[in-house]
Amino acid sequence: MSSIAAKGTTDDSTDQEPHAIYGFERWGRDLLTVLKNGDVGLKNPLKPDTVPISLPSIIRDLEQRGIHAPLLLRVSSFLENEIRSINNAFETAIKQAGYRGVYRGVFPIKVNQQAQVIRQIVDFGRPYSFGLEAGSKPELVIALAQSLERDALVMCNGVKDLKFIRLAILSRKLGFNTAIVLESPKELETVIEAYQELGVEPLLGVRVKLFNRIGGDWAESSGDRSTFGMNTDQLVSVIDRLRDVGLLHCLKFQHSHLGSQIPDVNDVRRASVEACRYFVDLTKEGAPLTHLDLGGGLGVDYTGEKKASKSSINYSIMEYCENVVETVRYAMDEAGLEHPTLTTESGRAIVATSSMLIFNVLETTLYDSGVASKPEPSDYHYVKDLAAIETYLEPKRLQECINDASFYRNELRNLFLRNVINLRQMARAERIYLYLMSRIKLMAHEAEHSTEIDEQLDALADIYHCNFSLFQSLPDVWAINQLHPIAPLQQLNEEPMRRAILSDITCDSDGKIDEFILADGLSPSLPVHDVTDERPYYLGVFFVGAYQETLGDLHNLFGDTNVVTIELREDGHFDLLQEVEGDTIAEVMSYVEFDPKDCVDDFRKLLDLATSDKRLKSSERKLLIATYREAINSYTYFE
Ligand SMILES: *Cc1c(COP(=O)(O)O)cnc(C)c1O
Repeated sequence: MSSIAAKGTTDDSTDQEPHAIYGFERWGRDLLTVLKNGDVGLKNPLKPDTVPISLPSIIRDLEQRGIHAPLLLRVSSFLENEIRSINNAFETAIKQAGYRGVYRGVFPIKVNQQAQVIRQIVDFGRPYSFGLEAGSKPELVIALAQSLERDALVMCNGVKDLKFIRLAILSRKLGFNTAIVLESPKELETVIEAYQELGVEPLLGVRVKLFNRIGGDWAESSGDRSTFGMNTDQLVSVIDRLRDVGLLHCLKFQHSHLGSQIPDVNDVRRASVEACRYFVDLTKEGAPLTHLDLGGGLGVDYTGEKKASKSSINYSIMEYCENVVETVRYAMDEAGLEHPTLTTESGRAIVATSSMLIFNVLETTLYDSGVASKPEPSDYHYVKDLAAIETYLEPKRLQECINDASFYRNELRNLFLRNVINLRQMARAERIYLYLMSRIKLMAHEAEHSTEIDEQLDALADIYHCNFSLFQSLPDVWAINQLHPIAPLQQLNEEPMRRAILSDITCDSDGKIDEFILADGLSPSLPVHDVTDERPYYLGVFFVGAYQETLGDLHNLFGDTNVVTIELREDGHFDLLQEVEGDTIAEVMSYVEFDPKDCVDDFRKLLDLATSDKRLKSSERKLLIATYREAINSYTYFE
């Protein structure tokens, strides 16, 4: 089915491996690599000496157990690695700077609320007394059901009603260090009400609205116009009110959060400086602050570019920690204050890398054809002109040939519209055009050419139709053009001779991906191999563990995919820790308030009617009801 021959052996302008184009070295970190056999390999970051495991072999293994793509693969070893990394980096930075306080991180539940993920974070975080952040009442309910270490924190942010606050205060009786971070002076009144009712003192914090703004996609969460936190005037009134009611000694935490994926480390530093200013003056006001919480925002270098740009960051975790620790130490030393406990609420950086979405290509729409076609003698002369382009096709005249081909094709389309040429002639012209395109693409692949030509050829990229829903599994790609590394999972030792965009299986024209991270930058198309019927062609979207799972929606009623959690073993194998089957059609129906049983009943009534009208034989009736039932209990994706 390949329309383009393999790359000629005469061309050895680069001796790079065929997979170099994807940039695994750049963005794959210590997690992903390409094996000799062309498979993507999962490295074990906890044990760098172990042999990487082939990802396609894991998929084959799962298929044998009846778990099919599309699936979300969670690698618990990756998650454990991130939790270790951030805690170790803070510990190292604290030692280096001679900081006399500790780090107590919390994981913000909203970033990935899945039970399996939260339980693992609690487990892996135990040695570091890692805690949880709840931004809502349901999240607090989840946090309080976890067995946290005695000195771990539970931070409560977000808008809180009386029930939320009651629960937070009472949980202290069980030994939870649950801090209520006040978002507004009004919230304080609810806290006072709960305190008077329960007679238990709250552990309190204030959320400070910093002036500093960050760059990137979440700039709106920071600065004056941010919808979160209190300004100086509100802070002062909260202090006064707390003193009035005799609760100022409960105010231990200062919190600020600048937004997610902070691209520039200097934004982190500036914000830390500002946060310290507040900390010092709030202390002078009499608040016995002990904890400085700098929120989330630690970014992930999705593109591997190491720069302050979209989907990249210009710093490492270590640098982030050093900046924070040094800044706070200077400020506290200057003010003559004790070094507070440092808290961050990094979510994205902890979970993003541990999940990947894996799906298969279902079908391809190719914008070229390897089958040569000839015009008929009676064809309109433009058809012949189009075919004649092949006679002068050479590397130096590529642009000219592209121009001519598109001119003749457009003219022919107009002639077809005006009924000058017929359907068969038009079809012949299209075939000739696609054949020419395959010759042009091959020549462009092998010879030097301009980037303009590349751009024109990108517009002729193939469409690979894939078994996933962008809206369910990659909502940020749809909503905010978030970039994730995407690559084929096999055949990476073969030159990818095609360029494609990916389309999903929803009926929405937005359901496509046409921006890709490659070794040399962003590209509107992804290099791919020919897809044959002989074996499945899998693609992976990497680093999707943060936010994607719960922001996803039920567009076209495609539900949750199968989810599998594995742990990498030291012997180069893996253990299957958990398998959660994706939604069935019955499940997604009930999400939109259809009762599957009622639907079966209603369908049966239609069948009964058709049977009594003799439109349906009883054998057909049996088959129809069985088929309907089978569909209702099946996976929502292509099987
Ligand atoms: C969302 C959120 C976080 C997590 O931010 P990341 O960028 O994912 O680390 C932390 N704190 C608060 C208050 C948040 O709203």
